[in-house]
Amino acid sequence: MPIPAKPLIIPVFIPQAGCPHGCIFCNQRAITGAAGPLPTSNDIRLRVHEFLGYKKAARIGVELSFYGGNFLGLPEKIIRELLDQASEFVKAGQIDGIRFSTRPDTVEADRLDLLSSYPVSTVELGVQSMDDGVLRQAGRGHTAEDTTKAVRLLKKTKYRIGLQIMTGLPGDTALLCLQTARKIIPLKPDFARIYPTLVISGSPLAELYRQGRYAPQSMGACISLLKNLVPLFKENGIPVIRMGLQASDGLDDPAVVIAGPYHPALGHIVYSEMMLDTAISALSAGPPPGQTVTITVHPRSLSRMQGLNKTNIAMLKQRFKIETLHLKTDSSLDADDVRVG
Ligand code: SF4
Repeated sequence: MPIPAKPLIIPVFIPQAGCPHGCIFCNQRAITGAAGPLPTSNDIRLRVHEFLGYKKAARIGVELSFYGGNFLGLPEKIIRELLDQASEFVKAGQIDGIRFSTRPDTVEADRLDLLSSYPVSTVELGVQSMDDGVLRQAGRGHTAEDTTKAVRLLKKTKYRIGLQIMTGLPGDTALLCLQTARKIIPLKPDFARIYPTLVISGSPLAELYRQGRYAPQSMGACISLLKNLVPLFKENGIPVIRMGLQASDGLDDPAVVIAGPYHPALGHIVYSEMMLDTAISALSAGPPPGQTVTITVHPRSLSRMQGLNKTNIAMLKQRFKIETLHLKTDSSLDADDVRVG
């Protein structure tokens, strides 16, 4: 079956396996909680069965994904072993495709040839930034040009392409980050992910932070940058499928995330603030609203309009001196529309 925009992803972690060195912000073992670099076939089987248990009755498309390392940087024998194991689940009809993340500088013609006989459906590239100075400071060991070349090569394949960028890296600014977005948009990826930089225990960045040589983005600065990045991608037809790292036990541990804008519902907060901004503009545009106001949104956007713990509603009532605020839904509206009456 064709893989939909939002498949069920079964993440199988290969923490920092295939990485030529450690990027400054990275400590995948701490984040993923994975014990060793490579999963055994039993680990993979258990993971698939665990996740297939969550699957809703209707098939939504399922991909097994090798995350947390540099997949194409692994030795060929290991790449084949992992792909062979994952392919068994495709053959058995339990999953629909294989996905992995990799560094741009490992996307080369011979590696792509190696993949061609496997049911790979999606490739995600860790772009992080399109500014060579920021990449250098992050210890990435590749350039923006490597990303452009990698996407060009991947465009010759049938795989869906996802590009991951980061905010708040050392030397990065909101302006540079927006430029990164503007540089990857013409590469026409199928989707993007945005990861704010966190200070993870055991990473070289944690040491810089301790020495006072790195200051992470504040949550406010991060959210306001994300509120600019998301519409930029959307206007260009590129969905942002995730903002912030997936919540895990490791990330909820303050000994693991030492500093930085981490929130398990970061994406929800960003979209909620965007809806709040739209509602404020609509309410400010006309004469002062009366004591009773009705706001109508698409059914899927209801909780975003309410905001986390209904903070948006409280804020609107206070700001515009509204006594009763009704929230209604109308499925003919777009997900971002806010109708005020
Ligand atoms: S960020 Fe990616 S490439 Fe860099 S060390 Fe971590 S897993 Fe490897």
